[in-house]
Amino acid sequence: MKVEQDNKVSDLMIEENGLRARDQKHIWHPLTQHKIHPEALPIVKAKGALLYDESGKEYIDGIASWYTAMYGHCNEYILAKVGKQMQQLDQIVFAGFTHEPAIKLSEALIEILPENQEKIFFSDNGSTANEVGIKMALQYHFNRGEKRNTIIAFEDGFHGDTFGAMSASGLSVYNGPFEDFFIDVQRIPTPNTNNIDEVIEKLHNIIDSNSVAAFIYEPLVQGANAMHMFDAKYINQILKICKENDVITIADEVMTGFGKTGSMFASDIIETKPDIISMSKALTAGFVPMAVTSCTQDIYDAFLDDSVGKAFFHAHTYSANPIACAAALAGIELLQSEEYQNHIQRITASHQEFDQKIKNHPKIKTTRQQGVIYALDLQIEMDRYGKKRYEIFDHFMQKGIFLRPLGSTIYILAPYVVSTEQLDKMYEAILELLESV
Ligand SMILES: *Cc1c(COP(=O)(O)O)cnc(C)c1O
Repeated sequence: MKVEQDNKVSDLMIEENGLRARDQKHIWHPLTQHKIHPEALPIVKAKGALLYDESGKEYIDGIASWYTAMYGHCNEYILAKVGKQMQQLDQIVFAGFTHEPAIKLSEALIEILPENQEKIFFSDNGSTANEVGIKMALQYHFNRGEKRNTIIAFEDGFHGDTFGAMSASGLSVYNGPFEDFFIDVQRIPTPNTNNIDEVIEKLHNIIDSNSVAAFIYEPLVQGANAMHMFDAKYINQILKICKENDVITIADEVMTGFGKTGSMFASDIIETKPDIISMSKALTAGFVPMAVTSCTQDIYDAFLDDSVGKAFFHAHTYSANPIACAAALAGIELLQSEEYQNHIQRITASHQEFDQKIKNHPKIKTTRQQGVIYALDLQIEMDRYGKKRYEIFDHFMQKGIFLRPLGSTIYILAPYVVSTEQLDKMYEAILELLESV
């Protein structure tokens, strides 16, 4: 009896001075309306595909913590490489200095990137990787004596939250208060069988009546746009027209990169290769933030000149941080291994099998898959951040599964190390949800 009482007392203390209460005192969370949702769940540990809360309850990380921890959380191999690097060289200014981790990473990236990519520029997150890509494209034309100031983007794309990246993003829930300050962006719808002719016509019109510098796009899968997928042949048609008109193409592979689509990069699946590619998220395996923007020799050459003025004057303090480079290198090594390629095949096949089972379910509108990315739309209309969405979120969390619905879309993008049992548990929870909605 006494033991039980003691437990109660300590539970109370956890409540009052616990992480939840302390969090609310000083922390302002991203994408959160704190008046409606004051509580954040403290996570104390993560390993492989699992997250652990304070009480020791496990959650399967069904979205790999925003598609970063693809090799599993606290991966031992990456951990060892990062630990070693930390003791060797932590940080160095990357203007005027260089180091082996960055050099090795550039070599490893060029080996796996589409073959037209030659140069690697470092920054620190997905938004800045796109910001860099947009600025490169603008200055490319500027350096060649042409002032082009329009960017083309898809209507519902997402490219990040800094001003250039945000301007190119079409999801208005993020953009409302800032729209008056945007750079000039013209939008085309994402292509499908029915609208492709219309999209092409609109693209031609925009190119003819503006001075277009670049087209930025998420290849094959639009992550934040509820994992919307489109056909490689349609995006290829768009890219070809861009090339014909000297419009620089920027593939935002921040979400799609590093094996998720079933190839190294989504751009591998599309015939026409981009001039610029932005990467982040899984690049550093969830260990530390970093981003990379790669480009062709032609882009790079436009910045070479006897005058300093044509150089790319963009820098982030932590550019090519050696620890981040070590994490990225270790991640790429794993991705290239037979073990991880087998994981990717296993997950892809598993999703396919599940899809066969449920795609005709009356509560499901549509399903879609690209590699290890699997998404389904429920047969109900709901707000992206509405009440129903939180109910669905809670349904999964109670079952020990972290899935983050995007409107009425439920998607799985789990770490490659997710076990078959863990996949089955997620499928089971989806089936149970279908019974209850
Ligand atoms: C997440 C994401 C970004 C933004 O990356 P951050 O690191 O959050 O700034 C940009 N583009 C795509 C496609 C993304 O998924």
